[in-house]
Amino acid sequence: MALSGLQIYKLLPASSKDADVKTHGNCKECGFPTCLAFAMKLAAKQVELSLCPYVEEESKNQLEASAAPPIRLVTVKGTEHEMKAGNELVLFRHEKTFYNPAGLFVRVKDNQSDAAEVAKAVNDYLVDYVGMELTLDGIAVEDVGGDFGATVAAVKEQCGFPLILLTEDPAKAEAGLKAAEGTTPLLWAATSDNWEAMAKLAAEYKVPLTVRSDDGIGALADLADQVKGAGVEDIVLDPGARDYSGSLAASTQLRRLALKQNERRVGYPLIAFAGDDPILAGQHIAKYAGYVVIDRFSPATVYPLIVMRANLFTDPQKPIQVLPGVYEINKPSPGDPLMVTTNFSITYFAVANEVESSGLPGWLLVADAEGMSVLTAWAAGKFDAERIAKSVNTTGIAEKIDHKRLILPGHVAVLMGELEEELPGWDINVGPREAVDLPNYLKTQWG
Ligand code: SF4
Repeated sequence: MALSGLQIYKLLPASSKDADVKTHGNCKECGFPTCLAFAMKLAAKQVELSLCPYVEEESKNQLEASAAPPIRLVTVKGTEHEMKAGNELVLFRHEKTFYNPAGLFVRVKDNQSDAAEVAKAVNDYLVDYVGMELTLDGIAVEDVGGDFGATVAAVKEQCGFPLILLTEDPAKAEAGLKAAEGTTPLLWAATSDNWEAMAKLAAEYKVPLTVRSDDGIGALADLADQVKGAGVEDIVLDPGARDYSGSLAASTQLRRLALKQNERRVGYPLIAFAGDDPILAGQHIAKYAGYVVIDRFSPATVYPLIVMRANLFTDPQKPIQVLPGVYEINKPSPGDPLMVTTNFSITYFAVANEVESSGLPGWLLVADAEGMSVLTAWAAGKFDAERIAKSVNTTGIAEKIDHKRLILPGHVAVLMGELEEELPGWDINVGPREAVDLPNYLKTQWG
């Protein structure tokens, strides 16, 4: 359980009963004037405990335990990419934000002749979405009685993303781990029957281990405890349910227990299996899987999943932005139109895509409006005549064009007069309100 500032203060040297330690109280070596000030910063997670060299050992253990995240951060690594799961702090994104997007893994079987081709397709799949490059996260190789080690090796050769090794057979697991050498795969799964052998392997190869139980959350927590006792710290939980309601109930209970009850025994990321059902995969992304395994790679089903995930895991308090500056569309020449908009990603892409798909050339001046859309930025005073004029004067756009005409978004026509004062000699034109009307405006009004 996280401690308050005052609870932390009671564990710092100024409150110590040991006279030798207490002499260091308020010594300022941490960079703060008092132990209390340091305690407050520590409670807000704005500083590291290591800044104070005088904390007693017992207090340090208590403070470190309270500072540990309620859901452990687990990292898996491929030959080129890594993926983190866990470290989440809230049940609902609007409470703060979600940090580590659920990993999407495509399942291949060890008797599947095109496993390596699927791995390559997953490796090469890349989507450019409002300036973000979105990808899948790896391959889950399943033991179904084929040559598990060889399939893992072939998949690793073709895919730089992390692997999940799906087998409950310790001998197959070891073959897979050997074939995955140089990477850190997630091993699935330790059960009540095999956990000692699987935990031994996970500890030896230093990989995270999934524990799976179909017997309820209590049994899952007990199994996780046993595996932890065997020396495995990085644990992933599989509550076993594969249907909509069962998996939703289990994952919600586990997340609530970890966050609200601070139940450390289930404070680990979850893995979920969606089969060939993209809607179930969507449910797992939203609630609350760290890893989602899907049975088939198809751009038509994967695209909406990774876009939904991107929307869910962006910080709602930070608008998605593009860099302010001048953007060239369809190779413009100096006489082509100059339009201005804000640096909110969706606004930028709405305008740029409309002009680009019309085939018309143009210059797009993107002003720094702190990532807000046109009307929001105008209302907040972040997209005014002064800022637009500053963009014109600092981006060098005047040297790239041979005219002095600027098209304002129709929604901020009210800025026209002020902008004419800020940019003497410029002809300020009011464009359409909606980006979709820009091509027609350029065809009929420019020239
Ligand atoms: S380093 Fe800071 S927290 Fe530690 S004893 Fe000195 S003032 Fe207190």
